[in-house]
Amino acid sequence: MLESYIGLGSNLAQPVEQINQAINELAGLSHCRLQVASSLYVSRPMGPQDQDDFVNAVVQLSTALSAHDLLDQLQNLEKRHHRVRERHWGPRTLDLDILLYGDQIIQDERLCVPHTEMAKRSFVLYPLYEIAPELTIPGMGKLKELKENMDGGDLKKLDSNEYRAQQS
Ligand code: ATP
Ligand code: CA
Ligand code: CA
Repeated sequence: MLESYIGLGSNLAQPVEQINQAINELAGLSHCRLQVASSLYVSRPMGPQDQDDFVNAVVQLSTALSAHDLLDQLQNLEKRHHRVRERHWGPRTLDLDILLYGDQIIQDERLCVPHTEMAKRSFVLYPLYEIAPELTIPGMGKLKELKENMDGGDLKKLDSNEYRAQQS
């Protein structure tokens, strides 16, 4: 088993529910164990602005799967959430990215780990820091420093009352 970190995002069809359900599904994956899940955060969309805000979270998942098998499982879950690939960075019911896979650096046509853009994204760094403040990201440096240099002003952490408000 090694520790992977998965980034979740949704901005369609009751995003809070999509994310909570996806966390349960990740917990049910064989050869995997869900260790911890961050709070949920609301962020403005990247790219096209004519779409709803995103709900994001990060989980730590221990896994005995290879990185590519893990990606297959994540893409199966995205399909189960009826994700349709339309435009780049457009709205989606569920996006699951492998942020980290142990301390491995992977670069091939299907997979770039650590996730290339993660250090530039507050909606990744803040929830990741919440669950794993001591992490060092291979090739990018200490998470604490990356997060401290990142403006989180665009990001809103949801408390449990707001979950309900978002759902309605
Ligand atoms: P971004 O990668 O900038 O967050 P995105 O999540 O919208 O954009 P997708 O359309 O979900 O991009 O994914 C496109 C492809 O990215 C996937 O088919 C997958 O093969 C590839 N990919 C490369 N590295 C990763 C990774 N670390 N986690 C998930 N997918 C990855
Ligand atoms: Ca993504
Ligand atoms: Ca993705």
